[in-house]
Amino acid sequence: MTNTLDDKAIVKDYFNATGFDRWRRIYGDGEVNKVQKDIRIGHQQTIDTVIGWLESDDNLPNLSICDAGCGVGSLSIPLAQAGATIFASDISEKMVTEAKERAAKELADTSKLTFAVQDLEALTGQYHTVICLDVLIHYPTEEALGMIKHLGSLAQSRLILSFAPKTCLLTILKKIGQFFPGPSKTTRAYQHKEKTIVAALNENGFKIERTSMTSTRFYFSRILEAVRSE
Ligand code: SAM
Repeated sequence: MTNTLDDKAIVKDYFNATGFDRWRRIYGDGEVNKVQKDIRIGHQQTIDTVIGWLESDDNLPNLSICDAGCGVGSLSIPLAQAGATIFASDISEKMVTEAKERAAKELADTSKLTFAVQDLEALTGQYHTVICLDVLIHYPTEEALGMIKHLGSLAQSRLILSFAPKTCLLTILKKIGQFFPGPSKTTRAYQHKEKTIVAALNENGFKIERTSMTSTRFYFSRILEAVRSE
């Protein structure tokens, strides 16, 4: 049994060490093994779904967006490219450094994109939209619910989350387990029941607007867009 601080310390260490190398490769375009390639494709579909939703609203240049747990900037960089003002943060310094390097390479103008090394629960401020993709998988449901509450408090209009749904539990746990093998198994993958996540969003004043599900062989991510209901 671990507590929140332990879970965070473990996740932070992982994403500053073996996890950084692994996920930087998966979120890149270099050579990877078949499983990693499958996860890369699935993750890109999740990113593309969220970008598609935001672009279809046709107001990106007017939006302030908080990308909590931004990783290497897979979402933040294209959103900044599309004109949104982005505050991107991650608990892992290495991830943020990589994201900054990618942004400098890929964007002609980085002035609308700010990065910070920060635990998402320490974030402050107000943003039109708060997005947190594929982060809740690293925390037990109870901690994930605390994170949703905090992220919701930063969101003026909308909160977009993705998580591994609990439906295909055994399959997913087994498969995700392959990414944390042997001695480098320093973090776990947690799935969450959709109805629990939706109830937490409702309790925090949000209602579900759009949903999507990305499923490949080894990657499963349920995406929820929740908007303020009052
Ligand atoms: N959201 C990014 C994406 O979809 O490309 C990255 C997803 S990656 C699987 C998970 C990221 O969450 C890692 O970069 C990790 O460092 C970050 N993370 C984990 N716990 C966090 C926390 N408590 N606060 C901020 N970032 C966190």
